[in-house]
Amino acid sequence: MGGSKIDRSDLLSLESSCIPVAVYQFIDNRVKTLLVSDGFCDALQFDSHEEAMVVLDTDMYCDVHPDDVARIAEAAYRFATDGGVYESIYRTRDVVAGKGYRVIHAQGRHVYDANDNRYAIVWYTDEGPYVEGGDSRAEDYNASLSGVLREESLLRTSHYDPLTGLPGMGYFFELAELKRDRLEREGEHAAILFVNIAGLRFFNRTYGYSQGDDLIRAVARMLANNFGNDNCGYLSQGCFAVVTDATSAHDAAYQAIDQCKDINGGRNLPLHIGVCIGEGDHVEGSTALDRARAACQTCADIRTSTYRFFTDAMLAAENNRRYIVENLEKALNEGWVQVYYQPIVRAGNGRVCDEEALARWIDPNKGFLSPAEFIPVLEEEKLAYLLDLYVLDEVLNKMHILMDRGFYIVPSSINLSRSDFETCDMVEEVRRRVDGAGIDRSLITIEITESTIGSDFDYMREQVRRFRELGFAVWMDDFGSEYSSLDNLQRIPFDLIKLDMGFMRGFSENPKSRIILTELIRMAIALGIDTVAEGVETQEQVDFLREVGCSKLQGYFFSKPNPLAGILERYETGTAIGFENPAESEYFSALGRVNLYDLSSVTRDDLESYGH
Ligand code: C2E
Ligand code: CA
Ligand code: CA
Repeated sequence: MGGSKIDRSDLLSLESSCIPVAVYQFIDNRVKTLLVSDGFCDALQFDSHEEAMVVLDTDMYCDVHPDDVARIAEAAYRFATDGGVYESIYRTRDVVAGKGYRVIHAQGRHVYDANDNRYAIVWYTDEGPYVEGGDSRAEDYNASLSGVLREESLLRTSHYDPLTGLPGMGYFFELAELKRDRLEREGEHAAILFVNIAGLRFFNRTYGYSQGDDLIRAVARMLANNFGNDNCGYLSQGCFAVVTDATSAHDAAYQAIDQCKDINGGRNLPLHIGVCIGEGDHVEGSTALDRARAACQTCADIRTSTYRFFTDAMLAAENNRRYIVENLEKALNEGWVQVYYQPIVRAGNGRVCDEEALARWIDPNKGFLSPAEFIPVLEEEKLAYLLDLYVLDEVLNKMHILMDRGFYIVPSSINLSRSDFETCDMVEEVRRRVDGAGIDRSLITIEITESTIGSDFDYMREQVRRFRELGFAVWMDDFGSEYSSLDNLQRIPFDLIKLDMGFMRGFSENPKSRIILTELIRMAIALGIDTVAEGVETQEQVDFLREVGCSKLQGYFFSKPNPLAGILERYETGTAIGFENPAESEYFSALGRVNLYDLSSVTRDDLESYGH
């Protein structure tokens, strides 16, 4: 160890010096203040040494000009880690005048005590008020080309984010890890907060990016002030990370939300905060932050500032997600994913005219998984196309099996997700498979939901047009479930609309659902579009739907979805519902219309076991 040696008592005596000076130590990768001098308190208008030290240890840069924060934070970091000397010029708010900035020149060097502990002594010189465009030393400094270039290259490899002056992501994780280790040595736990300025994109669009940047800086300073500059990190797009101790996480989040009201001169937005407490299991900083982010995302619909903790239920969902993603390929290859088929009958004659292919994941470890458990995960991970194309292949196989045995086949519909259209050319993928299998295109129907059309209207309209031009029928699924738009129906030429199951659920309790159904069906007839009512479970519903002119019906009243083996068995035993096929109608009329099930023997539990 080199450098000058100093007696610790000499060092401590600096406290009563009238020269503005501060002594720092670098512990846990962070700058800790050991002492400040009387002169320091006078120059910067602190009432006491304690107050000055608290400010230095939390938000050292609270009064520094926002454009200078990242530069001097970085210079201080380099000084602390690389050694050498410290020299920086920056602007700090003029607390005496109450407005404008003063130019401060800070210089530092390292000294060591007898035990080789290292201390940084930093002197501060007030160079006078800062004049914009004037002849101050800060201007000189900034104007000198070499200086600027040096700053630039430093900032490019910076540990600090240039906009906020907070540690950048990588450095934040380093700091967070050290803090967590220290807290755990002290018998405490660390908490990671994910802080999001809700609605920033809209704010930027409305007020411009520079106003948005001001708001981001104001939130950064508020967080630094509450948690300490080096316990916060700026991620991007108005999102921050914070590390703190678990015990105070609750209060700290609350306090930040409270203070958020008054920042940036009132031009601000709500804060959403997700909190992940690191208990027991030792998770990576990035995992903890992902969890905090997941907790934060559950606040998405709330328009006020709020915070949520990462819960066991979220952990279970996260584990489920990982399991699904990691095992998808296996599930497809090993036949864990099976296709079930649910018949759709013509309302007029009760004969099967179509069927819908629905995916089931029958897992050797987890048992039966309903689509609600794996489809949303696959959609979010943009993997649903793998499943959907697999389902299509299975449908095509099944058609061959049935044809080989001499059975009549009806068109099968497959469900496609929004993400399918983002990951590949779905129209071409489907066409290639269907043609390759030698199956007539009219036997494959595409179901897409209204939400699939979503925001990218023109793009989806084009995909629907391509499918139909190739000879595939396209159905709109779940019509009436979300933000149904009659406009969509007019502008995209669907062959059929499936009326959402919600109408059937409300059927007995809510008389209005009958009125809406009647009107929707009437409208569809007028537009020349077929209708399927989904979720039909009772004779009463069947009678009503027939009367108002619904073309097709689907639901447990007729049959629940069945695997291929079950269907084959019914064909073989003659207990299937008759097809809408004139050649076979004689045979089936002899049998009468037999439901796939004698419904009296199907319990609610049977139905529930299929995820409903
Ligand atoms: P969906 O396309 O609206 O499918 C209809 C759902 O209603 C199916 O649930 C079906 O089993 C259920 N259902 C049918 N009749 C009745 C009834 O009378 N009463 C009740 N309560 N439910 C009935 P499932 O199979 O759990 O599928 C749920 C959703 O998952 C589907 O809704 C569809 O959006 C999605 N999905 C299923 N399979 C696939 C697939 O292979 N690919 C994609 N992308 N999505 C799929
Ligand atoms: Ca469907
Ligand atoms: Ca549906």
